[in-house]
Amino acid sequence: MVAQVTGSTVCTVGHAARGNVDRMPDDQMVHDELPERVLVITAHPDDVDFGAAGSVATWTDAGVEVSYCIVTDGDAGGSDREMPRRVMAEIRREEQATAAKLVGVTDLYWLGYADGRVEPTLELRRDLSRVIRMVRPQRVVTQSPDRNYQRIYASHPDHLAAGEAALCAVYPDARNPFAHTELLDVEGLEPWSVAEVWLMAMPAPDRFVDITDVADRKMDALRSHVSQHPDPAALDGLIQGWGAMIAELAGFPEGRVAEGFLRVDTA
Ligand SMILES: [Zn+2]
Repeated sequence: MVAQVTGSTVCTVGHAARGNVDRMPDDQMVHDELPERVLVITAHPDDVDFGAAGSVATWTDAGVEVSYCIVTDGDAGGSDREMPRRVMAEIRREEQATAAKLVGVTDLYWLGYADGRVEPTLELRRDLSRVIRMVRPQRVVTQSPDRNYQRIYASHPDHLAAGEAALCAVYPDARNPFAHTELLDVEGLEPWSVAEVWLMAMPAPDRFVDITDVADRKMDALRSHVSQHPDPAALDGLIQGWGAMIAELAGFPEGRVAEGFLRVDTA
């Protein structure tokens, strides 16, 4: 069941392509229905804020319940060699919780895997299946399991692994009562089918969210990761540039900023 929200800023552009932008008139944009619940799965604290915090703010403003599941505590982040990694993990959880709140998210799941060592194991697939069965989202937003050669920093090995495990959890694990049987038999978590997955940082997105009106909140969320950004001002130009580029791909009017995703139908 999905809630229809009119005036949604989410749109589909059928054949937008990098470097060859067809400006699509409004009536050719297909307005997606907003889901009731969205689960964002990422490898590290701050990943969601780079790729999707603007969209998340737009969705929570429209009444969508958004939850985050973060695979690691980001304990390999930062540049302070004196800081114990356990302390860094605590700091990064707090920073992510602060950032989440700024875009309307208070429901966070931490899996506690080691930063820099994520693999798409059966154990991780089970842990993600557990969260999917608990949250019961219609849409999962996650990282691409495919390396983006146009933007290599988006393709940290942990991101690829988290994305792969998330897709495996969406299909087939979370919906299959005979996968990870302890989830149903011991924990009583019924199978759940996620209808669609939106992948972040894809070279050719086909779903676009106009985040112009919430861009300040996205920047505030990003700046919440204080331990990771010694020069927060440097982020502004980078994020603005990405947002403008994606808005152009989407065919949005000049001056708008957007986030883009590739939709995978998993219904
Ligand atoms: Zn990351």
